[in-house]
Amino acid sequence: MHPYWFDVQHYINGQFVEGERHFEILFPATNEVIGRAPEGREAEVDAAVRAANTAFAYWSQMPPSQRRRYLRAFAEGIRAHEEELALTESLDVGRPIRENKASYVARVAANIDFFADFAVMHGSEAYPMENGYINYVLRQPIGVAALITPWNVPMLLETWKIGPALAFGNTVVLKPAELTPIGAWKLAQIAHEAGLPPGVFNVVHGFGPDSAGALLTQHPDVSLISFTGETVTGKAIMSAASRTLKRISFELGGKGATLVFADSDLDLAVETSVRAAFFNQGEFCLAGPRLLVQRPLYEPFLERFLARASTLQPGNPLDPETTLGALISREHVQRVRAYIDQAVAEGATLLLGGGPPHLPSPYHEGNFLSPTVIAHVQPHDRICQEEVFGPVVTVAPFDSEEEALAVANGVNYGLSSVVLTRDVGRAIRVAEALKVGTVWINDFFVRDLRVPFGGMKQSGIGREGGQHSLEFYTETKTVCLSNRS
Ligand code: NDP
Repeated sequence: MHPYWFDVQHYINGQFVEGERHFEILFPATNEVIGRAPEGREAEVDAAVRAANTAFAYWSQMPPSQRRRYLRAFAEGIRAHEEELALTESLDVGRPIRENKASYVARVAANIDFFADFAVMHGSEAYPMENGYINYVLRQPIGVAALITPWNVPMLLETWKIGPALAFGNTVVLKPAELTPIGAWKLAQIAHEAGLPPGVFNVVHGFGPDSAGALLTQHPDVSLISFTGETVTGKAIMSAASRTLKRISFELGGKGATLVFADSDLDLAVETSVRAAFFNQGEFCLAGPRLLVQRPLYEPFLERFLARASTLQPGNPLDPETTLGALISREHVQRVRAYIDQAVAEGATLLLGGGPPHLPSPYHEGNFLSPTVIAHVQPHDRICQEEVFGPVVTVAPFDSEEEALAVANGVNYGLSSVVLTRDVGRAIRVAEALKVGTVWINDFFVRDLRVPFGGMKQSGIGREGGQHSLEFYTETKTVCLSNRS
């Protein structure tokens, strides 16, 4: 047995539950088996939804300030387990532990804290009418929320949904990705220690499209689904959810562009675009895998960008010196390499990387790919259109603002983009013209949890964050109060 070993369980109605069938958990950096997780089927999904439904009766009636006490204890527990969660997230995902320790776990806890406070502070609308009547609006919890999450930033996305769902009075069944089950199990343990009442928060693991995830989307007692994952999965979920008219919120794929204008600060532009391209090994919906650089800066920028990307150090994610982790699975590495190979076969030029780095045993068995930079691509090439989801960036020059915008917007996705410029007027113009849900100007992946988050086009439906989460996770009721009695 591996020195790290996890016997992951479901968490249903306040109890940790074994499953009948299991699947293996692999450490992406070595492909060693580091544990097993149960595959939830009808029985587990049904038990979890039933428990959540029962718990809804009292959790939804609890004053938000009382729910906040539970949620604060939960967030405090996450912070108290920071070291352990940083480790398990690296084992689950393959991300360098230094990133988890720098800010990741703190952001996981903040997702819970923020919404616990937000729910206490939100007000409502009231409209006095000319005839003396008053219309006012109540916001009420909806019911059981199915939260379905991907493998790339699991705990961050799980708490991003758990926080508002619970704070606004719903109960939860979380279905984490099969490739990263450990974090959700740890969160369940922490919620349990924090004393969350049974049934309020449940976790059911699943394996593949026909198990727990799909069953949740079909369950008649699930009222809403918040899903983050691939666009094709979103379409399948939308179709399943339509049968019982569930409320949905989708955060789907992305294909962001990083637009570097000639007036940019070169140091800032290089640092920001390297982070946007390679954070989380590029397995990031918000990444900037299409680098567009205005021609006068193209050569000096490219030289610096390649030099900086070459300093990224792939290797054991648990080593604090490692700055580039492993990809999630062997199959995923093959998929990413197929994009690179096709681009090169069609005439693109490989400027950096393209294959696995030389690593000692046991990491040479892991899912590593060197930082890869590709030039001489056309905007309509497959590698410039589809979500590659790896440490791969294409780079191309542009002349005018209009040309950069046409290329940046010329994809089916619309999640986020980065703009690097010192010209405020240009920043404002370009931000307005980009067809994406989030634009960062002179930085990347900075978020205030009050702002709406989500994508345009094939990148999603709906927005979450602050007031937008309140709108998704609650039902409104209008009360018209007459002045007659
Ligand atoms: P998937 O869509 O493959 O899976 C996401 C989740 O959905 C998993 O828990 C999966 O379970 C589950 N699932 C799969 N099929 C079904 C189904 N038919 N019904 C219900 N649930 C189902 O995404 P990945 O895990 O591969 O994650 C990567 C994707 O996530 C990328 O496209 C990325 O862009 C996107 N993403 C989007 C973000 C955003 O905010 N817009 C943020 C982060 C990622 P199982 O694992 O068991 O198959």
